[in-house]
Amino acid sequence: VFLELVQIGLFWLLLPVAAASGWYAGRMGRRGAPKDRRRAPGVSHEYFRGLNYLLNEQPDKAIEVFISLLDVDNETVETHLALGNLFRRRGEVDRAIRIHQNLVARPGLDRNQHALAVQELAMDYLRSGLLDRAESLFSELTTLGAHKRQALRQLVHIYQQEQDWDKAIEASRLLESETGVDLSAMVAHFYCERVELARRRGDFERAQALVAEALGVDPKCVRASILEGEIAASRGADESAVAAYQRVASQDEAYVPETIYPLLASHRRLGTLEEFRRYLEALAERHMGITPVLVLAELLAERGELRHATRRIAEELRRRPSVRGLDRLADYALQGAAGETLENLKILKEFTSKLLENRAVYRCRMCGFTGKSLHWQCPGCKEWNSVKPIHGIEGE
Ligand SMILES: [Zn+2]
Repeated sequence: VFLELVQIGLFWLLLPVAAASGWYAGRMGRRGAPKDRRRAPGVSHEYFRGLNYLLNEQPDKAIEVFISLLDVDNETVETHLALGNLFRRRGEVDRAIRIHQNLVARPGLDRNQHALAVQELAMDYLRSGLLDRAESLFSELTTLGAHKRQALRQLVHIYQQEQDWDKAIEASRLLESETGVDLSAMVAHFYCERVELARRRGDFERAQALVAEALGVDPKCVRASILEGEIAASRGADESAVAAYQRVASQDEAYVPETIYPLLASHRRLGTLEEFRRYLEALAERHMGITPVLVLAELLAERGELRHATRRIAEELRRRPSVRGLDRLADYALQGAAGETLENLKILKEFTSKLLENRAVYRCRMCGFTGKSLHWQCPGCKEWNSVKPIHGIEGE
């Protein structure tokens, strides 16, 4: 507490100095133009009163004093902006809001000062979760054409939190034209969010049209393909579902394991398991995780070819070690085992089960967040498309 007081105290002690130097700079900049000055650049009585409140741990009274000072002193605007900013950084957002509201309401500010104060106030509202107010101020800034990039960035952020995807798309497009940075991958997700909403309403026509829009924006959008596959399969259009899921392999190989079991279900309904088996062999050839190999083995085991299934997995394990593969191998081996071998295999199976239990299946490539379910937007760093299935010995 003492250190903080010293910090704030020093800040306030420096205020009059900052004001004076502002006055001096102002004088230098307008040399020759005589100006009516009522204020002397000295340390006023009011500043000491404010400082006294601060030192007595009454910051709210101190703020009142300093705000009242601002009314008679136009050149402390920068300092008050800095002070509001400081309060916000310290988490004292209510105080920051009072300082910035006072500045915004002040008629004497020039255009830049006013825009700066509006921006700071909008950041305060954002920080305290008052999204509506933050949104209207950032919108005001984009209309004014002031701090436009920053305002648009914040608007994209706000519309995502509010799940207002139409506005998020619109703001992203404006931000793209303002900065020249390609945001297509993110915008495609906004369309996918709208697909999910349409699907929940049972409006499949609209959902399908929005999938096409997402893919139009970002042809590499895996989520759009998976959504298209899910919607088609749920409506009995399994051939379209297969085409949509298979597209993922050419979009982002990391997500291929996500498509294997839905593809299996569609091929079963279509009676095209042989075709699917060839597809899986091609994926296994391209090393797209352990899931294609496990499903190949499942199909063999289903036909009663347990020895073939076991051999298929053993072959794969020789090439690439995998805990999930070992676990499955133990399953198959247990089925024909007896006596001491059975007991030993049970120990092995227990071990692999424990290894697989509670392990994360997905990891964010940006921040390292891990989890057991797939998030298209990372819950940790809020990045889109960064959470992917984990590959390697303990994963795919
Ligand atoms: Zn992340």
